[in-house]
Amino acid sequence: VDGFEPTAATTLRRHPERGRHDRDTVYAILDQGLVCHVGFVEGERPFVLPTSYGRDGDTLYLHASSASRMARTLADGAEVCVTVTLVDGLVLARSAFNHSMNYRSVVVLGRATAVTDPDRKLHGLRVIVEHVAPGRWDSLRPALAKELQATSLLALPLQEASAKVRTGPPKDPEEDLGLGIWAGVVPLVLRALEPVPADTALETPEHVRRISNGTR
Ligand SMILES: Cc1cc2nc3c(=O)[nH]c(=O)nc-3n(C[C@H](O)[C@H](O)[C@H](O)COP(=O)(O)OP(=O)(O)OC[C@H]3O[C@@H](n4cnc5c(N)ncnc54)[C@H](O)[C@@H]3O)c2cc1C
Repeated sequence: VDGFEPTAATTLRRHPERGRHDRDTVYAILDQGLVCHVGFVEGERPFVLPTSYGRDGDTLYLHASSASRMARTLADGAEVCVTVTLVDGLVLARSAFNHSMNYRSVVVLGRATAVTDPDRKLHGLRVIVEHVAPGRWDSLRPALAKELQATSLLALPLQEASAKVRTGPPKDPEEDLGLGIWAGVVPLVLRALEPVPADTALETPEHVRRISNGTR
């Protein structure tokens, strides 16, 4: 299947023309993002917590301290809503009302399961590390049993998801175009800078240089 079947919950009502449900678009956004926001209800109260993640095929992996509210609630099978947002530009219009942003965002709905099988857990953690810093996992000291115990890995199947994409200039109404007010887009990117070594005796490895120079 190369698309997510839109459900009642993932059908866009506002600006539906900006909606996408094909896996290529959804996965490209997930793969470029570094931070997701995980929304869930614990008891009566909603929480939306930022965290890192990784994707392997049709599974989104999240990890958290085993003692954390997020890990406990998600492992209990709570409904979860995960969003990833890439901000591509500030859209400055002639009126406050028509200001906007250019963006690509994804909403994933579902229930996660806690991964306890040791091999799959290691695999999921590797997916998260490699998502953030490609090429890093194999250079690391292997995870200790106590570290694995202290970490919960949650697997969220990618079954119900949507993307929304805004591109292009401000959409001012005809009558505002001649007001003599500057309008346009300020493009934005998230950019890696020079790595700052924790130990200057070591040479910066290739995988870190690639992150830094944007060829990751
Ligand atoms: C950087 C950024 C800035 C934004 N600024 C504003 C703002 O200032 N004001 C504003 O009203 N809206 C803004 N939006 C759009 C906002 O995310 C919602 O799409 C919009 O508010 C409509 O909400 P709704 O509940 O009516 O959506 P509906 O269209 O009713 O949502 C139905 C379903 O559509 C899907 N969906 C909706 N929005 C998104 C999304 N952004 N990404 C992926 N799937 C989605 C979800 O599956 C959702 O459950 C912004 C989005 C981004 C990414």
